[in-house]
Amino acid sequence: MKSFEELLQVSTRIHGHICAGQVIGVRMSMLALHLLGLDDPQGADRKKVYVIVEIDRCATDAIQSVTGCSLGKRSMKWLDHGIMAATFVNLESGKALRVTALEEAREHSLKYCSKTTDKYARQLEAYKIMPEGELFRIEMVSLTIPPEDLPGRPLRRVQCENCADWVQDRRDIVSDGKVLCRNCAHGRYYTKILKEQRDVS
Ligand SMILES: [Zn+2]
Ligand SMILES: [Zn+2]
Repeated sequence: MKSFEELLQVSTRIHGHICAGQVIGVRMSMLALHLLGLDDPQGADRKKVYVIVEIDRCATDAIQSVTGCSLGKRSMKWLDHGIMAATFVNLESGKALRVTALEEAREHSLKYCSKTTDKYARQLEAYKIMPEGELFRIEMVSLTIPPEDLPGRPLRRVQCENCADWVQDRRDIVSDGKVLCRNCAHGRYYTKILKEQRDVS
């Protein structure tokens, strides 16, 4: 695996700025991949790595950058739980680890970079040198990834009987004998503007 500094540089470029989240995400990913025996995540091991992230914040970009996993490749799944944690899976061995960034690390950063007065700058620098045990909690976990959540060709493609949109990967809902997309079954996250709808038809 590349060095911490190299990986941080790449993730900072992709993310757009350097921040504590990049340091956390890079270190978290390096640690988990190493413990899972995935030392070449973007090369020989690329088809074995799968990550479930529990937050959509800075560190998620670093996790994507280091692991090579992404939503588009379907090797990353995002759960909207708002927790700075991620579960790393070795698809070959079935081993999985959930790593959580410890909230206490914010306070502990004082021990390492006490001279830096700006809180965010201090955390950024401290997180680079703090021992892993002070930054993360690691849990050995077991989970089943449904086949429709794995990379590969869509397992199913059906057309919504209400709006005619096509739905892939078993995300359709059968309600009263009708195949529906989630927008039609559960309500839309947007409101249709009738005027524009008329304009485009
Ligand atoms: Zn950031
Ligand atoms: Zn629909």
